[in-house]
Amino acid sequence: MFFQKDLETMPRAELEALQLQRLKRIVDYCYNNVPFYHERLNRAGVTSGDKIKTLSDVQYLPYTTKDDIRDNYPFQMLAQPMSKIVRIHASSGTTGKPTVGVYTQRDLDNWSDQVARVAVGGGATADDIIQISFGYGLFTGALGLHYGLEKLGATVIPASSGNTQKQLMMFRDFGVTGLVATPSYALYLSECMKEAGYPRSDYKLRIGLLGSESCTPEMRDQIEHNMQIFVSDNYGMTELGGPGVAGECELRCGLHFAEDHFLPEIIDSDTGEHKAPGEAGELVVTTLTREGMPVLRYRTKDITRLTYEPCACGRTHARMQKVMGRTDDMLIIKGVNVFPTQIESVLVGMEHVGPHYQLVVRKKNFMDTLEVKVELLSAELLEHFGELEALQRNIHDRLKSVLGLETKVTLVEPKTLERFQGKAKRILDLRNEPEQN
Ligand code: ZN
Repeated sequence: MFFQKDLETMPRAELEALQLQRLKRIVDYCYNNVPFYHERLNRAGVTSGDKIKTLSDVQYLPYTTKDDIRDNYPFQMLAQPMSKIVRIHASSGTTGKPTVGVYTQRDLDNWSDQVARVAVGGGATADDIIQISFGYGLFTGALGLHYGLEKLGATVIPASSGNTQKQLMMFRDFGVTGLVATPSYALYLSECMKEAGYPRSDYKLRIGLLGSESCTPEMRDQIEHNMQIFVSDNYGMTELGGPGVAGECELRCGLHFAEDHFLPEIIDSDTGEHKAPGEAGELVVTTLTREGMPVLRYRTKDITRLTYEPCACGRTHARMQKVMGRTDDMLIIKGVNVFPTQIESVLVGMEHVGPHYQLVVRKKNFMDTLEVKVELLSAELLEHFGELEALQRNIHDRLKSVLGLETKVTLVEPKTLERFQGKAKRILDLRNEPEQN
């Protein structure tokens, strides 16, 4: 099933010709309308789109970083007067000023198309009743999915996050067939569904369109098992307009990039060198159609790989592997690179432990230490000291073989770690705090 079949299955030669034409145009557009890019492109010596002869010439364009966008807060990177802007979003950002995203009417139309494609890829149809349990507001996730699903013709319930019992009540009373949420919130809802004790037949749920944070295959399996639904993953960020940049098809062998709207590249994040298809590195994306706030070569900090091999679903657009981690989420502990997703894949699916965990990094005698707090599924085990110890050792050994690192594993009582309704915050880095014992 497709939302825009002609575009989604366009032969690659045609698609690449379209991308080249749009890349030339966006270079001119940025040069002529955004002072920031005018200066950067002058410095790079690319003063006109005509200088771009092939798609790989994108490497001569300047990068854009999150700091660039912050430094030009709020509206200095706009390519259109405010009278043409119809929507402003912003990402929360943990520190400092948020990252702003602005949209013309055409940007909103394109965005909805992109989201509708992702939704159809994940199995949604016009017959679905879909509950959006993302927090509404400046965040692009909720309204992005909202408009995209409406464009598809699905019935949208703007539930927002929180008030779990009401979420479950709406599932049952409104005959909800699809859920939009972060993976961590979906997991929490799935646990609450089990506890609420209603028979599965009271729920019509069949699909989950989860996004806005990474979801390991193990976590996805757990959500699918608990809720008995089909879960698909999608990708996007405020700087690129929000969700709908890429999404899984029903085969779930990578996330198809909306390549008619975006030009993705993979680079070595240290040297800036281009990586070959299939090689892992940092994802860099140029927007090809955005009018309000186009970006050239945005450094996403997400680590992934791209494949251009045809997909059995019929889509010709490149596939991005699930994001392996972020260059800034990556913990460096005693010189070893650690991604939270690696730890999650060890924990999820192990007997006796739940999917909730927290990583605490400390400095002790000038050495980094990593404590992994793992929540037990049931309090019963707490009374069996021997089993508890064996479980702890088992987790420790598995982590050591996956990470190549000594960790301190602490088992904690059920439901004592914080639950998240938005993006999960699982890392507590105390290395800059005064030394503790
Ligand atoms: Zn596919």
